[in-house]
Amino acid sequence: MSSKRLGRIRQEMARLGLDGLLVSSLQDIRYLSGFSGSTALALITQSRAALILDFRYLTQAAREVSHFEIVTTPTKPWDAVANLAQDWKIQRLGFEAEDLSFFQHEKLKEGLPDVTLVATSELIKDLRMVKDSEEVTLIQKSAEILSITLEEVLSEIKPGLREREVAALLEYRMKIHGADREGFDTIVASGERSAMPHGIASDKELIKGELVIIDCGCGYQGYNADITRTIALGKPSARALEIYPVVLRAQEQALATARVGVRAATVDKAARQVIEGEGYGEFFGHNTGHGVGLSVHEKPTLSRDSEIPLEEGMTFTIEPGIYLPGVGGIRIEDTVTLGLRGLEVLTSAPRELLIL
Ligand code: ZN
Ligand code: ZN
Repeated sequence: MSSKRLGRIRQEMARLGLDGLLVSSLQDIRYLSGFSGSTALALITQSRAALILDFRYLTQAAREVSHFEIVTTPTKPWDAVANLAQDWKIQRLGFEAEDLSFFQHEKLKEGLPDVTLVATSELIKDLRMVKDSEEVTLIQKSAEILSITLEEVLSEIKPGLREREVAALLEYRMKIHGADREGFDTIVASGERSAMPHGIASDKELIKGELVIIDCGCGYQGYNADITRTIALGKPSARALEIYPVVLRAQEQALATARVGVRAATVDKAARQVIEGEGYGEFFGHNTGHGVGLSVHEKPTLSRDSEIPLEEGMTFTIEPGIYLPGVGGIRIEDTVTLGLRGLEVLTSAPRELLIL
């Protein structure tokens, strides 16, 4: 774990005049400290950094954590935060507003009546947008596992299998290949269900002639990759054959547009223009992509109004789609990273329509 990350958040704190920052998002905590457990709070000042956790995580923390001192608390983490903040004489304590519940905020206020609490917005998530080489390597590995898994499972898909069975095969195989877990509830949406962009695998059986959207993700040492392919079971309909190349072209345009310095909205527009140009604009209702890292969905969002300029080290998806209610849908998604040599596609599987 690089101490640079802690250095950068301390710069942000100084800029905002905060002498303390409370971190309650587990992914932010993992990013800064290396701790991968499921309960912890972190408190940071310019000279100190502590991880507040309970006895269950001591051994794990000793193995994983660097640059943070470990403070254990038997039952009341919010009291521990208050005690530490008082010991460290914190006057202006920042907290990441998106990550603290109203209840937790009240607890904090109660324990620290003389401290000014300052709401901050995604300070650490903004830092997380630009990946360092250690992170890119992990996302690369995650993408490799995901691509191998998808390729294997695609060779086994046939009519009669239930969507749920396809999802189970994917999740089983990715773990055999080294994934920690699936990135999200695996999407396997066949036939008319494929018109639902987030059709989580159901009991429905796959039927000959249908389109099937398979959207799966996996995590490796905390880092995610995300891929979608749409396949046809037997001869696809004329409509499917007409739409598939449009989505593919939209993805290719977006891939060709994404480079350092270009705004995220410009990449979204590149994909959207192709789809709108063919008259399907109203059937592409979601964003073109999202950042991928410790979270499957993180910054930057590649949407119509995202002014963020793309930077080297950003890792995100490009995933246009067309969804026709009552007919079906098509989406093609890859995880990419912007490196020294431009855009690198990390997930790999043929993009042409696969007819099984
Ligand atoms: Zn996906
Ligand atoms: Zn995605």
